Amino acid sequence: MRIVSSIATMQRLARQWQRAGKHIGFVPTMGYLHAGHLSLVCEARKRVGRAGKVVVSIYVNPTQFGPKEDFSKYPRDLKRDLKLCRAAGVDVVFTPSNKEMYPSESGGKHFVASHFHSQGTDEEVPSTSYSTCVVEEQLSRMMEGASRPTHFRGVTTVVAKLFNIVLPDVAVFGAKDWQQATIIKRMVADLNFPVKIIVAPTLREADGLAMSSRNKYLEGDLRRQAVVLWNAIQKARAAVKKSLKPIPAAQLKLHLKRFIEREPDTRLDYVEFFEPDTLSPVSKVTRGTHVALAVFVGKTRLIDNAHL
Ligand code: AMP
Repeated sequence: MRIVSSIATMQRLARQWQRAGKHIGFVPTMGYLHAGHLSLVCEARKRVGRAGKVVVSIYVNPTQFGPKEDFSKYPRDLKRDLKLCRAAGVDVVFTPSNKEMYPSESGGKHFVASHFHSQGTDEEVPSTSYSTCVVEEQLSRMMEGASRPTHFRGVTTVVAKLFNIVLPDVAVFGAKDWQQATIIKRMVADLNFPVKIIVAPTLREADGLAMSSRNKYLEGDLRRQAVVLWNAIQKARAAVKKSLKPIPAAQLKLHLKRFIEREPDTRLDYVEFFEPDTLSPVSKVTRGTHVALAVFVGKTRLIDNAHL
């Protein structure tokens, strides 16, 4: 397995593979890998075959974190991640630095701290050699986008960059981040990226909690309380199954909010019912409606979603 941190080297490798007719499968991650990530690696391998190449990127992308979010304390363990990737048969791990991804006079810091998050005038924006971003204008507005206004701009920009660096034929994303995967599919269609997007199922712990690097933050009783996201999804499923007619979304939202906030340290950020492909909110919930929710468990914000 090769570990590459230079963009030029990664692009050169990808071009060599392309010329040799090898298909490239790509799994972008922020590291601190778990079985959910590794299931995406498996899917990528399936798609490109033994003769193909699988690339995993490990990069905690600063531009998708809000100014008050957990960028600096986001869990990192590159040594462990590399071991897991090697065991999973990954060909290349791409781990660029911030300076490599967002070059600027301050080595990425300015761009992240001021440029990307700046709502102010031109005078307030420090000079930087990085000034282009990719913005999806419709699907990014609701749910995660409403709660985290600069998040998807950071995501689409970094994923577009990674696609141009890794040159994948196939990229695998997790259903865990349903809105993100839907936005990436739209970006790829709108901007004609020659890459096939695969969305692989969410892997869960035995009690239903969706695997996430952020689960590391859940200490003591918070880990138990975190199962409330999955239990809320199950509750919505049961309600839809039992009801003879569509259920008003507003009614079910209120019901779930009460259910979730019965735990001592939980607070619902949002719960939304929508069409799975278009993310359009629905006013009546039926079988086939998609549900997504974000819940603070202590200080940790967790998300989950499912088909009903
Ligand atoms: P992250 O490292 O959290 O940015 O996630 C990298 C990729 O792994 C994204 O496409 C996520 O949707 C996916 N992912 C995260 N958690 C899971 C999970 N529990 N099951 C499947 N895929 C996941």
